[in-house]
Amino acid sequence: MRQDDGEALVAKDARHVLHPWADLSALGTGTSLVVTEASGVEVVDAAGRKYLDAIGGMWCVTVGYGRQELVDAMSAQASRMPYFTPFADVSNEPAAELAATLAELSPGDLNRVHFTTCGSTAVDSAVRIAHLYFAAQGRPEKRHVLSRTDAYHGSTYLGASLSGKEADRTRFHYENEWVHHLESPGYDPDTSPVTAAERLAGLLEGMEAAIAALGADTIACFVAEPVLASGGVLVPPPGYHEATRELCRRHDILYISDEVVTGFGRLGHFFASEARFGIVPDLLVTAKGLTSGYQPLGAVLISDRIADALARTADPAKPVFSNGFTYSGHPVACATALANIEVMRREDVCGHVRDVGPYFVGRLRELRASPIVAAVRGDHLMACVECHVPGESGPTLRNQALAARVDRHCETSGLLVRPFENLCIMSPPLVVTKGEIDRIVDIMADALARAE
Ligand code: PLP
Repeated sequence: MRQDDGEALVAKDARHVLHPWADLSALGTGTSLVVTEASGVEVVDAAGRKYLDAIGGMWCVTVGYGRQELVDAMSAQASRMPYFTPFADVSNEPAAELAATLAELSPGDLNRVHFTTCGSTAVDSAVRIAHLYFAAQGRPEKRHVLSRTDAYHGSTYLGASLSGKEADRTRFHYENEWVHHLESPGYDPDTSPVTAAERLAGLLEGMEAAIAALGADTIACFVAEPVLASGGVLVPPPGYHEATRELCRRHDILYISDEVVTGFGRLGHFFASEARFGIVPDLLVTAKGLTSGYQPLGAVLISDRIADALARTADPAKPVFSNGFTYSGHPVACATALANIEVMRREDVCGHVRDVGPYFVGRLRELRASPIVAAVRGDHLMACVECHVPGESGPTLRNQALAARVDRHCETSGLLVRPFENLCIMSPPLVVTKGEIDRIVDIMADALARAE
């Protein structure tokens, strides 16, 4: 692209696009990085500068940019049949094939798939299914939803109400009397004053107390990311998932695992719930890596037990499942997901993540030597570096400014990381090599030194 064209493009973007999650105080300043091309783990901006994309688009570009197999699948499907959505009593070929493939890949009896358009609409749909499930059994009072502080479940009204990041919630004053936030479950052995067992006991006590206070017979579901992603890569203490799953089972509360980020290989398995954490949820939500980000698509995987109960208890006077979107299970998106899964299987992408994941986290942990690093947290290919002005903890204004400086230095050295409050979050494409990981860590180390 010519330099003038690049500048004109940046100006158009500045004048006309309201970016999701934009800094409104900078609206129209024309400083955005406008990406025009991408290949492998790299993107190129309008001025022709290359960046190693250590955030994988938005945690979603898993098999890397420019994969011809995915492009061919998109193009072939668009030529043959570009649109026909699964709706009431009609469907499309790629949606049927993909649903069967997801049932095969997923744990336990999660054999029924409800397609949506993205992660937020999948979370919304999963909660509505939980409500419908209990209402159909004559228990409409089971409506409350348990979530957690620091969780992120999307940007629709319900998804945002479930999300537990204080900064996001207060901006729009989401009030949803049915949603309750339990304590944020992260446990960092490096910085915690208590043992993992003590932390686990405290978290479970808090959850039991919340269930007792609300009354189990008023709670429909518990929604949980296996590892909290945008909340700051928070890994719960060992045993947390099994114990919360058991609590839910005991109190007849449906367990919804939000694998929008952790699904499709980021933790070294197609789904982390069972393979990493030993649980089979009642409902599982996925999106992002499902298509490697090449097309928008979300899905709710529903256990046969729930789906059969929905069919058995359907009200003959009102049997319709009134939930769905014009682009649910879009054929081009489903064909892309099928091609993506084929690539992941053929190249054993999950095995690659299990190999390079510990190397990534291990190398990043070297950055703890910097005086402005408060913590490094990670699990396979999701990680974050928490910045602080020595002696000052948490997302204070000075700590946030520091992380923003680190982020800017990374960008000028050709590395994209995602700043959130005082964190620099990373989720590189899953095909990242050890050499590229070294490059990420070297640039980050240099950026930290310059930001001190
Ligand atoms: N759930 C989790 C755990 C997420 O991280 C996100 C997005 O980042 C969502 C849900 C919402 O997904 P989407 O942005 O595709 O609507």
